[in-house]
Amino acid sequence: MIVEMRKGASSEEIDSVVEKAKSLGLDVQLNLGIEKAVVAILGSNTGQLPTELFAVLSGVENVTRIMKPYKLASRGFKEEDSLVSVDGIEIGGRRIVVMAGPCAVESEEQLVEAARVVKECGACILRGGAFKPRTSPFSFQGMGESGLKLLARTKEQLGLPVITEVIESQDVGLVSKYADILQVGSRNMQNFALLTNIGKSRCPVVLKRGFSCTVTEWLTAADYLLAGGNNQVILCERGIRTFEDSTRFSLDISSIPVIKNSSHLPIIVDPSHAAGHYSLVPAIAKAAVAAGADGLLIEVHPNPKEALVDGLQSLSPSDFARLMEELRAIAKSVGRYI
Ligand code: PEP
Ligand code: MN
Repeated sequence: MIVEMRKGASSEEIDSVVEKAKSLGLDVQLNLGIEKAVVAILGSNTGQLPTELFAVLSGVENVTRIMKPYKLASRGFKEEDSLVSVDGIEIGGRRIVVMAGPCAVESEEQLVEAARVVKECGACILRGGAFKPRTSPFSFQGMGESGLKLLARTKEQLGLPVITEVIESQDVGLVSKYADILQVGSRNMQNFALLTNIGKSRCPVVLKRGFSCTVTEWLTAADYLLAGGNNQVILCERGIRTFEDSTRFSLDISSIPVIKNSSHLPIIVDPSHAAGHYSLVPAIAKAAVAAGADGLLIEVHPNPKEALVDGLQSLSPSDFARLMEELRAIAKSVGRYI
């Protein structure tokens, strides 16, 4: 249930709404917005409660029963766009934030070279997986903590903040010691123990869409992060499974405007895992920016042919440089910049 307060409602009036909810055994989250305060009333039985319980309280303008299962990620709870800040880089503002780098950290030389290339081309965040969620247990699983250390060292050298995936709930503390942004992979979008632990941390997080999940399920998963008090949440569309097999996944381009309507959270797009082939990545990346994405997460490898993971979908340095130039023009045409 969402309780919107009148403009200029006093703190006593807001408190009385909070107290009422607590007296009914419900949780609350407060959004003291620029225009007005909004109180989200959280609990499994809010669907049965009469809205009048809150509507009669002084200072309350409107009470809405939320029909969607997600609350904190909804535009109803927070009207203004959320901005996530990483080392002074804002995600969700006018700038299109490009995160790029190899699928997996393989060695110091590979990572530093990738970081140098992507930085030179204008990417501002370095990606690289140290823990890799592989479909087969016999595939390369990532370098683990030594990969995290390489990411942190490369950040020190080149000044690019880093994003890396956390797979295990018990590794949230370890990974956030080294990473500036935690990545929740598609296969873990509904790993609620992992989400709950990340929700308790204050580390920015990219929540990738489960490849068989609806937008509603995705935003409901985001509520796990937000409910723990972590409001540094970025969504990432990375393609869903459909009957079409000419690409690795089908990028759901429509999810960008759908998310913009339904949620205040920033959304970025990963064209690499959607495409599955380097030749398709530029067109999808450009379409995503044109459709309103706040950023991109792109796989770039200094030598894709030698990559241990996802070489076929990784851009070479020259392909990435060309794409960044093209993206600048698209960004400008939609009133944004890179
Ligand atoms: C990745 O970004 O390296 C990755 C494994 O992506 P996804 O979780 O979207 O498959
Ligand atoms: Mn990959």
